Amino acid sequence: MSSAKTLQQLSCADDYDPNSMPVPKAREYIRAVLEPVATVERLHIRDALGRVLAENVISPVNVPQHDNSAMDGYAVRFADLKPDSEATLKIIGTAFAGKPFEGKAAPGQSVRIMTGAVVPEGCDTVVMQERATVDGDKVSVAAVPAAGTNTRKAGEDLRKGEAALNKGHLVRPADLGLLASLGIGEVSVYRKLRVAFFSTGDELVGVGQPLGPGQIYDSNRYTIYGMLTRMGCEVLDMGVIRDTPEAIEQAFAQASAAADVVITSGGVSVGEADFVKQILERLGEVLFWKIAMKPGRPMAYGKIGQAHFFGLPGNPVAVMVTFYQFVREALATLQGQTELKPQPTMKVVCTEPVKKAPGRTEFQRGILSRGENGEWTVRPTGDQGSGILSSMSQAHCFIVLPTETGRLEAGTIVDVQLLEGLV
Ligand code: AMP
Ligand code: MG
Repeated sequence: MSSAKTLQQLSCADDYDPNSMPVPKAREYIRAVLEPVATVERLHIRDALGRVLAENVISPVNVPQHDNSAMDGYAVRFADLKPDSEATLKIIGTAFAGKPFEGKAAPGQSVRIMTGAVVPEGCDTVVMQERATVDGDKVSVAAVPAAGTNTRKAGEDLRKGEAALNKGHLVRPADLGLLASLGIGEVSVYRKLRVAFFSTGDELVGVGQPLGPGQIYDSNRYTIYGMLTRMGCEVLDMGVIRDTPEAIEQAFAQASAAADVVITSGGVSVGEADFVKQILERLGEVLFWKIAMKPGRPMAYGKIGQAHFFGLPGNPVAVMVTFYQFVREALATLQGQTELKPQPTMKVVCTEPVKKAPGRTEFQRGILSRGENGEWTVRPTGDQGSGILSSMSQAHCFIVLPTETGRLEAGTIVDVQLLEGLV
């Protein structure tokens, strides 16, 4: 049984208003209807980078396997040490990393030990070599604060039988190392999400072709390609689709049959929406929203057959903002990620006045800098028009301005959302 709600249920909710959808509400609605892909594949850990674990990874061993030394020095019995003076002990051998000392230390004995070597039987503590003086087969060692000093305990990193990584975890470089440290060479991950996308618009021309009067190059398909590729999706670029009912209908039918997710840009604003709306009503179940955000007001979300559909605005900055604020999280959920953390924001001083009218959440593009006092500040990139794609190229962050905020004076503290990590 699916736990996800249907779109029908959502659009009947008391607080559902397609003409003024707050950003968090839109996120919540989308989240409620998402179910992760089910197919799982087993991959060598190297190939699992950027994929999502489909099972808990249980540690088959303790990491480290044995108590071992964190220092080069002398393994001793803590009970032999003197709190206020040096203790003199007999050296009975050496323990190397990978080559343990075979014997057992009796009272009054110590073992020369290297970093990473197993702590010999009988010993419980290591005195670093800088605090030891050797004279023939004797060593005088200083006191240490407690038993176990300078040793790493068996299982202190990971305990045998515990989940080292959870189902739903996105595999990052540290995880590859962690899996290797457990001796695990293969893991189960969800299959890649297949995402089909196309641009709509009679004015659009592909790169490499000359521009005619009134035409512009199709840039959205390239940003969308980049954002999807960074998210580890399998992409299906369907090109530019002309604004005719036949072409659009065919493209939607083809895309939804081939992919888990269909993303389009353009064609969802007032005027154009009616036209696309009729087609989508025939093919699936789609909700058209006016989200209370800037840029990126019009957006469509729905299902066409089994495929999820995101109809993004046409303006190039709006495409990116809606992708990062809605689509990214939705794709992560569909990929099986369960540990998706909210993108961190931080509060910094904005050094310039900010133009804004109350009523919508704004995602202005900002440039961060670090002053001589070490404090970070932000300033808007300049023209915040939703067609100014260079603002996204220059930006380090979104300056997130809440709905109710109006114009801000220079020196106001604002929330910024870093693009690093997001993109
Ligand atoms: P629309 O939502 O289709 O009305 O488009 C809004 C604005 O975005 C118009 O100025 C379009 O020319 C522009 N636009 C739409 N699609 C693209 C695209 N793929 N690449 C660049 N600009 C686009
Ligand atoms: Mg258009």
